[in-house]
Amino acid sequence: MSYLHDAPGRYGGGSMSNIRTHILGYPRIGEQRELKKATELYWKGEIPRAALEAIGKDLRKRNWQKQAAAGIDLVPCNDFSFYDQVLDAACLFGNVPPRFTWDGGSAGLDLRFQIARGAREVKKDDGSCCGGSCGTGTGETSGGFAGEMTKWFDTNYHYIVPEFRADTKFKLSDTKIFNEFHEAKALGLNPKPVLVGPVSYLTLGKVQDADHADFNRYDLLERLLPVYEDILARLAAEGAEWIQLDEPVLALDLDAEQKACFAASYERLAKAAGTAKLLVASYFGELRDNLPLFLGLPVAALHYDAVRCAAEVEKLLASFPADKILSLGVIDGRNIWKNDFDASLGLLEQAKQKLGAERLWVSASCSLLHTPVTLASEKKLDAEVKDWLAFADEKLAEISTLAALLSGTGDEAALEANRASQKRRRESPRIHNPAVKARVAAVTAADGQRASAFPQRQQVQREKLKLPLFPTTSIGSFPQTAEVRAARAKWKKGALSDADYDAFLKEETRKCVEWQDEIGIDMPVHGEFERNDMVEYFGEQLDGYVFSQNGWVQSYGSRCVKPPILFGDITRPRPMTVEWTTFAQSVTKNPMKGMLTGPVTILNWSFVRDDQPRAVSCKQLALAIRDEVLDLEKAGVRVIQIDEAALREGLPLRRSEWQEYLDWAVESFRITASGVRDETQIHTHMCYSEFNDIIAAIADMDADVITIETSRSNMELLDAFVEFQYPNEIGPGVYDIHSPRIPTVEQMERLIQKAGAVIPQGNLWVNPDCGLKTRGWAEVKPALVKMVEAARRLRVAA
Ligand code: GLN
Ligand code: ZN
Repeated sequence: MSYLHDAPGRYGGGSMSNIRTHILGYPRIGEQRELKKATELYWKGEIPRAALEAIGKDLRKRNWQKQAAAGIDLVPCNDFSFYDQVLDAACLFGNVPPRFTWDGGSAGLDLRFQIARGAREVKKDDGSCCGGSCGTGTGETSGGFAGEMTKWFDTNYHYIVPEFRADTKFKLSDTKIFNEFHEAKALGLNPKPVLVGPVSYLTLGKVQDADHADFNRYDLLERLLPVYEDILARLAAEGAEWIQLDEPVLALDLDAEQKACFAASYERLAKAAGTAKLLVASYFGELRDNLPLFLGLPVAALHYDAVRCAAEVEKLLASFPADKILSLGVIDGRNIWKNDFDASLGLLEQAKQKLGAERLWVSASCSLLHTPVTLASEKKLDAEVKDWLAFADEKLAEISTLAALLSGTGDEAALEANRASQKRRRESPRIHNPAVKARVAAVTAADGQRASAFPQRQQVQREKLKLPLFPTTSIGSFPQTAEVRAARAKWKKGALSDADYDAFLKEETRKCVEWQDEIGIDMPVHGEFERNDMVEYFGEQLDGYVFSQNGWVQSYGSRCVKPPILFGDITRPRPMTVEWTTFAQSVTKNPMKGMLTGPVTILNWSFVRDDQPRAVSCKQLALAIRDEVLDLEKAGVRVIQIDEAALREGLPLRRSEWQEYLDWAVESFRITASGVRDETQIHTHMCYSEFNDIIAAIADMDADVITIETSRSNMELLDAFVEFQYPNEIGPGVYDIHSPRIPTVEQMERLIQKAGAVIPQGNLWVNPDCGLKTRGWAEVKPALVKMVEAARRLRVAA
């Protein structure tokens, strides 16, 4: 057992099996979001940097100790980050964008925060409109503007995009990876340093070079590899046994150049690593045509995501090279369900037979960064549902239990208990509702079809709604002030009665609607004061959902989200928004826009079932929201917005799968929207860029009106709609709500004119980019007054 770490079981039980266990990464936020809290205090100047660093160090120590205690043989290091691991890599390589002041020495923590958040801030932008989920925001600054942030593959984690220029040079500029290695080593562990691999690093970044816009970033590989060689050599010299290089781009469609980069890199890297052995990790999707390339990498071990790629495992095993170790990720690192041991053992057994126990490691599919930390602090979670779940810590235990079972040294009782739990979940009436299943099965094309085509609907809606040219509206939420949040917190604690909370919210709503009338908004909204979050609010009212108390997952930097858990067939026991909307309508004569979150967005921002296809869960949600739409209509609401902020996020990593996803996503939206009469106007809203490649699907949703984010792109995002000759009405955002800046009447007028030049005037709406909940009234009031004025001026001119 020479490969066991030097001090097995120092924390109470290293794995005694001969099948090795490891993970690719562990959540760093802490059980109580300690990292978030400390980081924000540091940013506010309330704790010194040394205190922040001490908290980070303490978290790392606890994280490693937990892993060791759970029986994980090889613990990752450098998976920790104060902000983002890709940004850490950029700083390690000295790849600092030149707009930041840097002396070329050590690219340390403060510089990292500047790159992430923008240097010399004027006023910090909160970065997002929807709890960090859409991830579109960057800092509002006067100095070096913040690095762009984008989604890490199809997760809800966002990384800082590396920036490349024709003159980019790389140089080892940081010691974090070595420091963390020593820290873990000092605890008696066998740490495995983790670093994003060179091909993924280049692929995830982009060229930011005005003078050389066409520069090919892969030309930088030759300059980048020597830094990797330095790092690997140094880690080897300092005693690393294994080094993990993450190459998740292997799950994407790669072109010949990217493939060639793999070939050019790994021969050199393996040589540079010398005595240290390399593990290349792929995850998030099947390898397909990249499989031969992956299997041919000249490294000692390969990690494979057996959850996302269960169907490909057989093929992988059939051609797995005789000289390598396979790390099989059988535990789902992307979801919160307890592992099905029998299924995993089946896969592992197959691998063991092919490779032998010495060449097989047990792991999670990807880094556990994407799961909440621990079930231990869930005191209120429904006991029945809790029994079906596993967060990161529980997944650690699952990994070592599986390894032991596979080695024949395992606890049969644990296997029995797992089987019993799986059986209870499979058979629970809490999950399976025959009426819901029957209703989904009975859905026909007609359910997704409005009674008439858009031109007829447009005509009746015009007659009924009698809106002026360039009608003004907003996206839904109004400022969630400290007062609103305080009242909710008080109510949740039981310190404010239901009646008082209700009265408070009604008053906020009434004031908000009256104010919209006063300034001349044509189509008011109720303001969403009663909502904590656009998904949670609905999840809480649907059967089939549970909520954790502490199930936070890092979204970006210090921002965490707590996705609701969709565990069972979805039903809507009672109307969810009718009371609020009809109350708001009673305040005004203008048509009140009812506000719902669409099924695709609810799905994409939840932890979802792994026992049925996402498409089925989505359809169930669609039927529940459809009922809400119909109840709103019955209650006299004439306009209903169904937000699909996260529709694009759900796109699969591979192009070849997009259409299938878009088909069921659009169908779900249409099921939700199509039960109403022609005269009921359906809006939808999407808050991201890049419509080009999904414009046909968006048109197919057939919403009467779509509002989108466009102001920051200077209306360029409209091009997709224009080229496609998008037929329905459209409200391109004219006010960038991500920024505290108040736009001028002229700026908004110009944007509307720009849009009016390419969109038929009668189809054009005037609205902000997104909801206003993250802004303050001091900004919102003047901005909307000016927006209304801009629309008025244009009407006069028209
Ligand atoms: N109606 C929501 C709001 O205004 C929409 C937010 C979003 O799309 N992210 O807050
Ligand atoms: Zn939005």
